[in-house]
Amino acid sequence: MSEENLLLLSCCAPCSCGVIQKLAGQKRRFTVLFYNPNIDCSQEYEKRLRENQRVCERFGVPFVTLPYEPQAWRAATAGLEREPERGKRCSACFEMRLRRAARYAKENGFNAFSSVLGVSRHKDLEQVNEAAAHAEAESGVPYDRTNWRKGGNEILRHELIKEMALYNQRYCGCAFSRAQGEKNEKDA
Ligand code: SF4
Repeated sequence: MSEENLLLLSCCAPCSCGVIQKLAGQKRRFTVLFYNPNIDCSQEYEKRLRENQRVCERFGVPFVTLPYEPQAWRAATAGLEREPERGKRCSACFEMRLRRAARYAKENGFNAFSSVLGVSRHKDLEQVNEAAAHAEAESGVPYDRTNWRKGGNEILRHELIKEMALYNQRYCGCAFSRAQGEKNEKDA
């Protein structure tokens, strides 16, 4: 069997830090990929990218990025703007990012890929796994379906967020989730 070489798609530092620490502690061979064309503006994108890079540097983990492609994301989710979070827009968003990650894995010699897109309790893990199945079938690269929420990840990631003073955004990423988040805060 060939040596493990895992590509981990990350959305942001707060969702990935606990998983990165755990995998690094287990001496697993992995690389973190930042591909998030869903983020609503370049300032926010840069901020999340830098924070994720900071976590990888802290644990000595390779960090790679793909270009920011908000127009491609808008095309992939066109017509789904009014969908609620966890609805069809999220399925299209997950699928786009996971398909690109799978392609990157295939082109760069990784023998598996995974993601932290379902780490937050606001996300539907089954929905992420379903989107990943399409990316897996298309690329032929196996998707590691580990439920990263388990094994004390929630506690670990909150400790790291505090310890590293990580930027912890209040919304998922797209303009629609930002508007919904602001509305929820106003209504609270
Ligand atoms: S809410 Fe999050 S997962 Fe859903 S479409 Fe927006 S950025 Fe993507």
